[in-house]
Amino acid sequence: MNCYLCGIEAEKRESAQGGKVVICRDCGEYVISDVVLRQLASKPLNFSKMREDLHHQRQSNATSLAQINSETAVWA
Ligand SMILES: [Zn+2]
Repeated sequence: MNCYLCGIEAEKRESAQGGKVVICRDCGEYVISDVVLRQLASKPLNFSKMREDLHHQRQSNATSLAQINSETAVWA
């Protein structure tokens, strides 16, 4: 599969909490929720703002994976 943010080849795993875990060498590792995945079919994420947000999430909470969910998603 390709990364939902940058579009390059990335690894995808099922997440225990639902959604998908994406491991991208460019964007890092993040969880994307099923709701956001469905919404992605009709609208794109704001790539640069979303990456910034993931970065901030990693800085403020290093123990859990950065999340793209209904609360954190930044749409273009
Ligand atoms: Zn990426």
